[in-house]
Amino acid sequence: MAYIITRLCVDCKDTACADVCPVECIYTYEGDDKEAFPNQLYINPDECIDCTNCEPACPWMAIFEEDEVPSVFEPDVDLAYAMAEQEEEFEIAEVTRGHAPTQTDVETNYAKYDYTP
Ligand code: SF4
Ligand code: SF4
Repeated sequence: MAYIITRLCVDCKDTACADVCPVECIYTYEGDDKEAFPNQLYINPDECIDCTNCEPACPWMAIFEEDEVPSVFEPDVDLAYAMAEQEEEFEIAEVTRGHAPTQTDVETNYAKYDYTP
């Protein structure tokens, strides 16, 4: 079991998750297939130790325990495992941090994916 970053992270990439991960298992995609691997961070599920730190740290509420990923984001579980198969194309995420989203920003992001918590 692992924690999964969903597409709610796409283009947000606040990196708060990487800042609190004790085992540096959160990555950016550095390959050319941006359609397959969109602009978000990825947890390597084979390296995640389930410490739970990242889930509450994400200001976009984009991280879920694998068993609790909402159905609308289920393809992102497969994407996380696909990432683990191609880890040579990923690099450990640098912590850069962006602006903190407002509640309205978070809800607007949810609406992009027809997601209602
Ligand atoms: S903190 Fe959330 S939005 Fe930011 S990079 Fe991590 S998963 Fe993505
Ligand atoms: S649960 Fe812990 S080990 Fe797993 S990605 Fe999040 S911070 Fe890293």
